[in-house]
Amino acid sequence: PMDRILISACLLGRPVRYDGTGRRLADPRLERWQAEGRLVPICPELMGELPVPRPAAEIAGGIGADVLAGRARVVTAAGEDMTAAFVAGAEVALDLARRNGCNFALLIDRSPSCGSFNIYDGTFSGRRMAGAGVTATLLAAHGIGVYADHEIDRLAEAVETGTRREPDAG
Ligand code: SF4
Repeated sequence: PMDRILISACLLGRPVRYDGTGRRLADPRLERWQAEGRLVPICPELMGELPVPRPAAEIAGGIGADVLAGRARVVTAAGEDMTAAFVAGAEVALDLARRNGCNFALLIDRSPSCGSFNIYDGTFSGRRMAGAGVTATLLAAHGIGVYADHEIDRLAEAVETGTRREPDAG
């Protein structure tokens, strides 16, 4: 059977980011996968019932794994606790992956949900740190091959050869 791929909806240009924008990744492989019915768009923050637009949020005191373990929180710059929505959205994303047979995910980097290499450090100063967001961490922990937007070449190779990546996000 054809591998299906979860994809951050903002990468398809959908205006779901916190500021109401998308971040379309123009790539012929994405167009082909979409035409083949392989892409399953997700926006974990919307699936956690957050609105568009919404205040920017960062993980304070850790990375996605710490949020899932209850050791860190997702907060806005004003200090509002968004943790429950981010965790709920990650769980919906995992459920969608399972129900749609997605072994892969292509997620936009640096998001507190979708980031898989880097996230912001929780100080709202634009500083980044190594680490994955809440959804990327949960998906990888359940064996889904998580790739960042800038890794689409590696994803394409894995999809073509049917190779499963060892979970490493987070
Ligand atoms: Fe894009 Fe993920 Fe943020 Fe939704 S949660 S806007 S899909 S980066």
